[in-house]
Amino acid sequence: MSRVLVIGCGGVATVAISKCCQVDSVFTELCIASRTKEKCDALAAKLAPNTKTKITTAQVDADDVNQLIDLIHSYQPDLVMNIALPYQDLTIMDACLACGVNYMDTANYEPEDTEDPKWRAIYEKRCEEKGFSAYFDYSWQWAYRKKFEDAGLIALLGCGFDPGVTQAYCAYAKKHELDIIDTIDILDCNGGDHGYAFATNFNPEINLREVSAPGSYWEDGHWVEIPAMSIKREYNFDQVGQKDMYLLHHEEIESIAENFPEVQRIRFFMTFGQSYLDHMRCLEDVGMLSTAPILYEGKEIVPIQFLKALLPDPASLGPRTKGKTNIGCIFTGKKDGQDKTYYIYNVCDHQECYAEVGSQAISYTTGVPAMCGALMLLTGKWTTVGVHTVEEFDPDPFLEALDQYGLPKTESHNPVLVG
Ligand code: NDP
Repeated sequence: MSRVLVIGCGGVATVAISKCCQVDSVFTELCIASRTKEKCDALAAKLAPNTKTKITTAQVDADDVNQLIDLIHSYQPDLVMNIALPYQDLTIMDACLACGVNYMDTANYEPEDTEDPKWRAIYEKRCEEKGFSAYFDYSWQWAYRKKFEDAGLIALLGCGFDPGVTQAYCAYAKKHELDIIDTIDILDCNGGDHGYAFATNFNPEINLREVSAPGSYWEDGHWVEIPAMSIKREYNFDQVGQKDMYLLHHEEIESIAENFPEVQRIRFFMTFGQSYLDHMRCLEDVGMLSTAPILYEGKEIVPIQFLKALLPDPASLGPRTKGKTNIGCIFTGKKDGQDKTYYIYNVCDHQECYAEVGSQAISYTTGVPAMCGALMLLTGKWTTVGVHTVEEFDPDPFLEALDQYGLPKTESHNPVLVG
């Protein structure tokens, strides 16, 4: 029996909420709160006939801590699931602390306005200390560790697929397969085709900021930063086929490096088609990916937000997207003194996701782990207080829940390694 407040009602939240409603013995009451209440009402009306979960809705501006506190005080949830945008992570964490409620999200904090001088001063200092320059990093949320510990609360960070399941795969490899992990390659392949020349499969603003940032990887105790898209590999993915993939900076590398200090190298690769890359480079060259406001005919606009308004809504890609995703981790290391390799991944079919919950596989592969993470917290399987990432918890019940609720794992003990 639990009451959960979900903030956000976009592509990922729609899947997470739909899956919570499938587990109505645990998620007995759910409030869907977002900026646009009509979307929450429409989703609640769609789900209500097929679930025992009691669903209510609310309007909230999650940039405003006081509005959040009022909402949390009035609803009295056991857990707040932040599935809005990374911009809102800190305000929602502040509100959870003020109200004494557990917190979780699917992506680490980044500021909406990266030109804000107050934020930039801190960011530039952190770039020097950390050795990578992507806008998103864990330091902002790790700064809340003591506050959550002192309050006896949990903040579970980044519980989607990557970050999220990929870290559970690391914990699983360490627990069951390898005594020592030497290298980790996280491979994120989307073999889906939506038929558009250019569209992003989750929030365009967040997606394009992530992909256009300089790439970086962890090697021998430090970061190596490279120009965006400058390391390319090919890989033949199970059930998808041969794809080009590019090394990106990705947030879970930072926490895995901290939690598995013996690992010598951690890299993250994502597949991209040539059309996506050509469009992105062109948009970047003409300034359309900028987050700095410009004046246009007397009105201030942010180029990347204007671009978002022009691109297809990721939620609308569901019926059009065909093909599969394949996301997982390849490990090298040692077991009982012998060299060993291990690959664990999930394959997910876009059309099957659409048939089940009306969303494409990118929203599905993020929303299902969000529900499963909430399930771990609400059923007492994961209990450590403080601010934590997924690899810090027992991976077994989480991977069992993923197997059960739509994202089963596949394992290989003799994978082809990435060069
Ligand atoms: P969408 O843009 O589809 O949805 C975002 C939702 O948040 C919308 O409902 C939006 O409301 C709401 N929202 C935005 N700002 C506010 C605000 N100030 N107050 C209240 N609600 C607000 O995004 P996605 O569903 O694609 O992504 C959701 C999250 O999942 C993001 O943080 C993304 O980075 C993360 N993600 C994580 C992945 C992983 O594997 N870990 C993979 C993919 C995504 P409105 O409808 O009014 O716009």
